[in-house]
Amino acid sequence: MAILLLGGSAPEAAEKPLKVVATLPTFADLVRTIGQDQVDVSSIAPPRFNPHFIEPRPSDVVKVKRADLFVHAGLDLELWRGPLLDAAGNTRLFPGQERELDLSRGIALLEVPDRPLSRAEGDIHLYGNPHYWLDPENVRTIAQAICDKLCALDPQHEQAYHANLKTFLDRLSARIPEWRARLAPYKGRELVGYHNEWPYLMRFTGLSIEQFLEPKPGIPPTPKHVAFIEQYVRERGIPTLVQATYFPAEAAASVAKRTGVRVVLLCQSVGELPQCADYVGMIDYNVGRLAEALEGSS
Ligand SMILES: [Zn+2]
Repeated sequence: MAILLLGGSAPEAAEKPLKVVATLPTFADLVRTIGQDQVDVSSIAPPRFNPHFIEPRPSDVVKVKRADLFVHAGLDLELWRGPLLDAAGNTRLFPGQERELDLSRGIALLEVPDRPLSRAEGDIHLYGNPHYWLDPENVRTIAQAICDKLCALDPQHEQAYHANLKTFLDRLSARIPEWRARLAPYKGRELVGYHNEWPYLMRFTGLSIEQFLEPKPGIPPTPKHVAFIEQYVRERGIPTLVQATYFPAEAAASVAKRTGVRVVLLCQSVGELPQCADYVGMIDYNVGRLAEALEGSS
């Protein structure tokens, strides 16, 4: 049997897809889009959980141990990333090695603190806002970085990766003006949020969010802070509160009951809702939901 395999299947062995582990489902989707059949991709974080606070399972450790490439958000988005890499012990994927891809490189970050922050203050966005993939313009950079990395690790399929990148970027470029146009009538409108994960989407859409139900990123809403948000929404006549689908609903429901603000659930991750099955679908969904919520508000 062993002899047969050795003798007979050399071309098949050469065609083995690159094993890619992405921390987030959105990155896995983009790797799949660029890599197609040449990659075997999985993600650690399930789409319907807060990506900051995942607890990797033993099977995730095994996946990372066997991976040829590790793709992640960088910064402090995945608070569990370091321990996972240590547990897997696959040193080829460690920071700065050839087989890791930190997608925050090359992104112009928003909200970079002007002084060093400490985790002791509770904040989990210590190096700038890490939710940068929600601006489709940034995803051009992300997709290019994925293509470059796949080409470097698997030059044999370089042409296919470039072609897949071009198809994706063409599709994205066709939609970007439509998305902008859909929300253009509401330019400058202020909303409130649950967790501070929307600044890149807000910049892209021309909307803004200044206040959040979480008093600090990662700190759950307190009664005092919820009361503050209620007052804030009332005084400013804010029409909409946005949150990802996986946060608890109670705080937003309470603000909605007392102020009439409309709660809109948006997707942070590909796969969070069936409508957000891929990256373009996710942005399409988010833009559509925002437009519906803002229609008729003044
Ligand atoms: Zn966050």
